[in-house]
Amino acid sequence: MTKKNRVGIMGGTFDPIHYGHLVTAEAARINFNLDEVIFTPTGNPPHKKDYAVTSAEHRYLMTALAINDNPFFKVSRVEIDRKGYTYTVDTLRYFAREYGNDTALFFISGADAILDILTWKDVREVLSMCTFIAATRPGYPMDKLKQKLQEIKRLYNSEVYPMEVTGMDISSTEIRRRVREGLSIKYLLPESIEKYIKKHGIYR
Ligand code: ATP
Ligand code: MG
Repeated sequence: MTKKNRVGIMGGTFDPIHYGHLVTAEAARINFNLDEVIFTPTGNPPHKKDYAVTSAEHRYLMTALAINDNPFFKVSRVEIDRKGYTYTVDTLRYFAREYGNDTALFFISGADAILDILTWKDVREVLSMCTFIAATRPGYPMDKLKQKLQEIKRLYNSEVYPMEVTGMDISSTEIRRRVREGLSIKYLLPESIEKYIKKHGIYR
């Protein structure tokens, strides 16, 4: 049975959100015929402890600003409002409940993050609850991505769909570094986010 609605979930720390995230979400929306994409900033990420992650509220607001001009994009507070560590399985359970049986869920991820996600809690349930889309990212071209997907297939006997995305060699790490060093971040992320970062003195 084909489901009536198709909803994409784009997870990330979004510290800060940038054009790499936005281009990937838009490509997934178009290629997989999604009705909407929900950006879901992580709360307290268990897998990122090597630097002090910016407050969830700042990351949420920057995400909300960045998606504002796309009628198909939404942002959810589900992970940032949850106390303690957040796992993809809990987020998927939440959206499955919210949207009900008539909706097919898609989880959008970059090539670098896909194996991470699948080594998280309750992999089998995670894979059964949604369709995974893995996007190419500079450093992870299609052939390298396909190798990774074969590994997933071997480990979990499950299909993840690869997706070619216009290469945007942008990372939040690089943006944070550039702000710290007083370098320009113009054209790497929407202007509204650049202004927000400046106004609140984030990453300095
Ligand atoms: P950081 O450098 O802090 O890890 P990031 O740029 O990797 O930040 P995340 O918030 O970690 O951003 O990523 C959220 C999701 O977006 C992940 O699935 C990641 O693979 C994907 N993603 C991030 N940047 C890109 C990009 N430039 N192209 C394609 N996918 C991306
Ligand atoms: Mg990352």
